Amino acid sequence: MPAHPAPVTRLVDGRDVPLGGVRGMSVTRWLPHRTLPMVGAWCFLDRMGPQRVDMRVLPHPHTGLQTVTWPLTGSIRHRDSLGTDVVLRPGELNLMTGGRGVAHSELSLGESPLLHALQLWVALPADHDDAPAAFEQHTDLPVVELPGARASVVVGELAGAASPATVHTPLLAADVTLDAGATATLPLRPGFEHAVLVLEGEASVDGTGLGVGPLLFLGADADELVMTSAGGARVLLLGGEPYPDDLVMWWNFIGRTHEDVVAARDAWEGHDRDRFPTVPGHGGERIPAPPLPPVRLAPRRRRPPLREVSDDAPAPAMS
Ligand code: MN
Repeated sequence: MPAHPAPVTRLVDGRDVPLGGVRGMSVTRWLPHRTLPMVGAWCFLDRMGPQRVDMRVLPHPHTGLQTVTWPLTGSIRHRDSLGTDVVLRPGELNLMTGGRGVAHSELSLGESPLLHALQLWVALPADHDDAPAAFEQHTDLPVVELPGARASVVVGELAGAASPATVHTPLLAADVTLDAGATATLPLRPGFEHAVLVLEGEASVDGTGLGVGPLLFLGADADELVMTSAGGARVLLLGGEPYPDDLVMWWNFIGRTHEDVVAARDAWEGHDRDRFPTVPGHGGERIPAPPLPPVRLAPRRRRPPLREVSDDAPAPAMS
């Protein structure tokens, strides 16, 4: 095997967060983290559940990003300001683009269903962050069979299989099932930084033992990923080219500046129907924006990905 530098790894703990408009819902967030703002253009990673819950996320806006919703268990009804009204089931992908502005709602289907779902955000690049709103649902994503594993390619390309999802920077998201007792080697794209989250079971990832919990950041030096699991596991693999720009993230908005976020908030609170058309079916119900903090919102500066950052570092100014 050719010699190459050992990948730099770092474990990032998820934290429990309250989610607006949801009663008693268990949500764990790994991104953004003060020591790891992004992985490629992935700037937000939440897991909802697993729990029996009536999820009721009322209409709310987004700018400057794409939302990726990926249910593992349970179904979600999505409605948006483009007029979309669809049910999303496990194995299917909802991808919504809110460049200049979009609004949507997400509600679980059924009576207190068992719900377990991932929601991620992709920061749009500077030449697409004002793009018109768009929505795609993909129900026939490619599945790659590898020795010891199979992977649904949710976004991007893995081992020669490409997702049809539209993204605007080089990105990867794959949902990998590891067979019990097997060793699987996944090819990684040079130049991408990668991270791994175990969703079910336990796995060893490049020699690091992982249960459901911490996000393992692999840096940008790995060209393959070796995973083993004694009992079988389900693992999310994220990757992307390091995102070049500083971003201001606040509530459901991404902008380049404090003023971008203030303008988006003003448009939502002012019922600007050009920027955020109504989401049909909810009457006047919507999630109001929280008050802005009494300081300028600071950009999340990209940190050198290979530098270890102390847990004592001050948290960036963000909700
Ligand atoms: Mn949303």
